[in-house]
Amino acid sequence: MATASIDIQAFTATTFTTPDKFSQFCSNGGAPLGGIIGGKSVSGSMNATFQTTDPGSQEVLATICEMGEAEVALAVETAHKAFIGDNGNGWKDVLVEKRIALVNKLVELCGRDRDILLACEIRDGGKVSELATGDFTQIRECAEYFSGVARRIAMGEGPERSVAPRVKGFTYREPWGVVAGIIPWNYPIVLTSWFMFPALLAGNTVLIKPAEDTPISALYIAKLAAEAGFPPGVINVLPGRGEITGQCIAKHPGVRYISFTGSPGVGQAILRTCDRHGTRMKREMGGNGSAIVLSDADPELVARMVGRYVNQHYGQTCCTVHRVFVDRKIADPFIDAQRSFLEGLKIGYQTDEGTQLGSVINSTQHHRILQAQKETAARGGQAILSGGVAEVSGKDGFYLKPALYRTSPEVDCNPQEVFHTFATVCPVDSAEEALQLANRSPYGLGASVWTQDIERGVALAKKFRDGTGQVNCHNSIAYGLPYGGQGISGGPGGGVNCEDTFLDYTQVKAVYVADYPG
Ligand code: NDP
Repeated sequence: MATASIDIQAFTATTFTTPDKFSQFCSNGGAPLGGIIGGKSVSGSMNATFQTTDPGSQEVLATICEMGEAEVALAVETAHKAFIGDNGNGWKDVLVEKRIALVNKLVELCGRDRDILLACEIRDGGKVSELATGDFTQIRECAEYFSGVARRIAMGEGPERSVAPRVKGFTYREPWGVVAGIIPWNYPIVLTSWFMFPALLAGNTVLIKPAEDTPISALYIAKLAAEAGFPPGVINVLPGRGEITGQCIAKHPGVRYISFTGSPGVGQAILRTCDRHGTRMKREMGGNGSAIVLSDADPELVARMVGRYVNQHYGQTCCTVHRVFVDRKIADPFIDAQRSFLEGLKIGYQTDEGTQLGSVINSTQHHRILQAQKETAARGGQAILSGGVAEVSGKDGFYLKPALYRTSPEVDCNPQEVFHTFATVCPVDSAEEALQLANRSPYGLGASVWTQDIERGVALAKKFRDGTGQVNCHNSIAYGLPYGGQGISGGPGGGVNCEDTFLDYTQVKAVYVADYPG
C-alpha cells in the first residue's frame, strides 16, 4: 500500500504573548465590564457579575456584568428606536453604501487591533494561534461577501403586476427590525461576524448575546463599532448566562428574529419559547460528523487528514469528524495511523509553541467528555486510545487525552456529539453500508468521503443526510455556499454564508392595491 510522504500536522500554536491593551480592556480600571446598550456601558440592575477565565490556566481574565430582564427590555427599546429613528433617519433608512462604509470602517479597526482580538480567541476561547488567525480572517471575508450581497439584493418594492381586474400587487422586502444573535463559545469571532454582518447590512439593529465562557470579543467589537461611527443602539451586547439573559431575549416579543448557534437541546427550547409570541428563528446546531474512507484511499495519508479535523479546536468544532467508516480491507493500517496521529498530538497550554491539544472550555465539558468516554466503552466501543485526564505542568486547566475506539456496524457506541478529540472507527464491507451507518445519526451537519475516485465520491457525498457533503476534505466553508444542518443540526432558514442568509434577515410582504370602488 502506498504511503504518502506529505506532512500533515494538527492545528498548532506558535508562542502568543498577550498584548497589554487586551489586559487593560479586561481590567477596565478595576470595574466590571458592562453590557453595551445604546453605545453606553450598562452595569445591570441585577447587580450580578460573572468571571471569564482562560480555560488553559484558570486565570481570571475579566469580570463581566450580567444583563437581566430590565436590560434586555432596555436594549430592545433602544435598538428599536435606532432602527426607526426620527423622521426617516433610522438604521433602516440608511443607504446601503453608507452601511457598507461603516462595516468597512469596523473591519479596518478590527485589523488595527488584530492582536487584541486574537487574544480574545486564544486566551478567552483557549484556541491555538493557527486556528485563531484563520478565524480572524473571517471578519473581513464575511463583511466583504455580505456587502456584495447587500448591493445585489433589492429591498423595498418588487415589480408591480396586475393580479385581478383593477387590482395590482407587488412584494415589499424589509428588515425585521430588532434581531438577536445567540452565540456559542467555540468560535466567538467567526460566529459573531456571521450573524452581525448580514443582519446589519440588511438594515436590522442587533443584540448580541455572547456565550458566558467567551464574552470579551463581542464587547470589544462593540467598542470598535462605536469608534467606527455606528449610531448608538445599532449594535448592542448583552452578556450573561443563557438561562437568564438568553431566556429574557427569547421571551421578549420585541425581538423580531433570533439567530441561534449552539446545541440542539437549547435551540429546540428557545424555538418553543419564541413560537409563543411569533418571533422567528434560525438555528445552526451541533453535529456528529462522519467520514467514509473507501478501499482505494491511502490509509495512512487519510488517517492523518481525518485526524487533523478530529482534533480541530480539540474536537470542539460543530461540523468535525467524530465517526469514521472505513473499508475493512484498509481498516487495520488506517486505525494504526489514526492512533499514531492522535497519540502524537502535543498536549499543552494554548499559547505555548507547538501545542496542538489544549484545555477544553470548562469543567462541565470536562466532566461530560470523561463520562462520554466511559459510556462509549460501556456500549461496546473497543478503546484504541482510552482518553482520560491529561496533566500540563504548571497549568490548572481542563486537559484531556484524545480518545479513539474501534467499533462494528451492530454497535452504536457514539450516538451523541462529544465535543473533544474523540472518534470511533467502524470497519465496513461496502460504501453503501458506510453510508447507511453514517446517515442513521439524527444529526446532519457535515460528512465526507475519502477516495481517489472523485466521481464515485461525489455520488456518495450527494447521498449524505447532512447540510454539507465533501470529497477528500472536511470542515469546508466558503462564502456563497450554504452552511447549515439537516436533522437536529439545523432549523428553519437558509443556513449561513449565502444569499439566503441575507434573505433570512429580511421579511417579505405582499401589497395589493385596488382602484377606489365606484
Ligand atoms: P449551548 O447551546 O449551550 O449555548 C449556545 C448559546 O445559547 C450560549 O450563548 C448560551 O449561553 C445560550 N443559552 C444557553 N441556554 C439558553 C437558554 N435557555 N435560553 C437562551 N439562550 C441560552 O451551546 P455551547 O455554547 O455549549 O456551544 C456548543 C454547541 O454549539 C455544540 O453543540 C456545537 O456543535 C454547536 N455549534 C454549532 C455551529 C453550527 O454552525 N452549526 C457552530 C458552532 C457551534 P451560555 O453560554 O451562557 O450558556
